[in-house]
Amino acid sequence: MIERETKTITIEVVTATCGRCGYKWELKRGIVPKLCARCKSPYWNAERKHKPHERRAVPDSASVDAARASIDSLRLPLPAGITAEELADDSEE
Ligand SMILES: [Zn+2]
Repeated sequence: MIERETKTITIEVVTATCGRCGYKWELKRGIVPKLCARCKSPYWNAERKHKPHERRAVPDSASVDAARASIDSLRLPLPAGITAEELADDSEE
C-alpha cells in the first residue's frame, strides 16, 4: 500500500540586508560576507551611525619598548662552549 502525503519542512534561510543600498540576499550557511552582494560595500553590515573607526589597537612606542626590554631580559648569556646553533638544534630523537 502506497500513500502519498505532503510534508512541509522548514528551512532556515539566513539573509543579509545591506545597510547601504538595502539589498537583501541569502547567505550561505555560516558565512558572513565581507562585501555587499550588490554594491560591494564592506560596510553593509555596519550601522549607519558615525562611529570612530575601530582599528586594531596599535601599541604605542612606550609599550613596545617595555616589551622589548622584557624580551631582552630573558636573553641569558650562553654558557661557554655552547653556540647558539647548538641551542637552536633541539632535535627530538
Ligand atoms: Zn549594498
